Amino acid sequence: MNSEVSEPIHICFFPFMAQGHMIPTLDMAKLFSSRGAKSTIITTPINSKILEKQTEAFNNQNPDLEIGIKIFDFPCVELGLPEGCENVDFINSYQKPDAGDLSLKFLFSTKYMKQQLESFIETSKPSCLVADMFFPWATQSAEKFGVPRLVFHGTSFFSLCCSYNMRIHKPHKKVATRSTPFVITGLPGDIVMTSQQANVSNDETPRGKFMKEVRESESISFGVLVNSFYEVESTYADFYRDFVAKRAWHIGPLSLCNVDLAEKAGRGKIANVDEKECLKWLESKATGSVVYVSFGSGTSFTNEQLLEIAAGLEGSGQNFIWVVRKNENQGENEEWLPEGFEERTKGKGLIIRGWAPQVLILDHKAVGGFVTHCGWNSVMEGIAAGLPMVTWPMGAEQFYNEKLLTKVLKTGVNVGATELVKRGKLISREEVEKAVREVIVGEEAEERRKRAKKLGEMAKAAVEEGGSSYNDLNKFMEEVNGRK
Ligand code: UDP
Repeated sequence: MNSEVSEPIHICFFPFMAQGHMIPTLDMAKLFSSRGAKSTIITTPINSKILEKQTEAFNNQNPDLEIGIKIFDFPCVELGLPEGCENVDFINSYQKPDAGDLSLKFLFSTKYMKQQLESFIETSKPSCLVADMFFPWATQSAEKFGVPRLVFHGTSFFSLCCSYNMRIHKPHKKVATRSTPFVITGLPGDIVMTSQQANVSNDETPRGKFMKEVRESESISFGVLVNSFYEVESTYADFYRDFVAKRAWHIGPLSLCNVDLAEKAGRGKIANVDEKECLKWLESKATGSVVYVSFGSGTSFTNEQLLEIAAGLEGSGQNFIWVVRKNENQGENEEWLPEGFEERTKGKGLIIRGWAPQVLILDHKAVGGFVTHCGWNSVMEGIAAGLPMVTWPMGAEQFYNEKLLTKVLKTGVNVGATELVKRGKLISREEVEKAVREVIVGEEAEERRKRAKKLGEMAKAAVEEGGSSYNDLNKFMEEVNGRK
């Protein structure tokens, strides 16, 4: 345990209820605890079950340290939500006719926890509250009791800078069509986008109004914690600090706080593959020869798109691990798999139906590329593992993250996705095949691999003692400690 902090500070984490937010939050809690803080994660009953196993494992392994869980009541039915609707996973798999805009309703319902948060802060008086961006009301709740509120967005400095400049300069308003390219004005690096890729919210819609509240609450918060490291996006980290947020601390890659096999394999849900079998399979493959294909915690494709991915992977001739998640409507049948696919690709391909131990796989030396939807956790995990990536963004801020990989870091190959997924075109088997080959085979692939490997080394150095993220975490803790 680090002894730089004389008295333990108590940090409360309040993650949005989605895997992509809860996973890095648990990593943050582990990181802060292992640096001498006391951590408490606030969540709802169903989500506490997801976190319990890993927090218990951490507490057992580290008897001097503690991560606690505080459970808040979240009565779905009373709130007008379907029973059990406590996280975004539920929403993603809810295909019933009354689904409506369930995600928006869910987002607004979280305010129900405000009262509970205030009583908790009043009684436990934490040193600070790290609340997700999606809880804009948390800044004032914390302020009432003199507790500083930190914001966690779970994304890159780069995408935060893109959104900022899009909002300020509105370059998308100056082009003729949604597919006309424009340069993001004000942003270093001449980054080219189209309107159909940029996720700009309209301030007049309910979601837009909500996002405005998010920004306002951030502007009066204590600052922002970012799952990134300085070296990977220094220009944008500087830009963010100079123009966007008053204060930000980079403390990532957070996934690197998971060291042993069980920790790496246990993130998120229970995996649908035996991790030892998975490692055995990887052991049988040559270094850098396997492509890992996964689209985050929520994305599911149509049968038509899954068929194209399957054919593209087979056509590429590369080894692969493919994580397939289907929605409820697709049921148990496997019409999405070409006939005889698994026999033909036996030994070359492994399909994981459901949840994969992603970080465990990415960190294996047999893996040489990552086909990703560009969710920021996945991107950071891929970068930390030193991997080149095939980028297949679909929504949220993923097109921005793609540009960071393909245009700034030059470790990514675009599969050909051109617009947000609701309107998104089908990506053909030829496109999948081409991008997968491009990332593994040939001279350019070698150059890309070298760049990615170097970034992976920088990522690891950043969290080591004296590294940029290590130091920024220290600075942050000292500042919070100084307020006590
Ligand atoms: N993840 C995993 N196994 C899976 C799918 C996802 O462990 O089968 C983890 C992944 O490692 C990452 C998170 O879930 O930490 C997904 O976050 P990301 O930001 O990449 O995407 P999101 O799910 O938020 O779209």
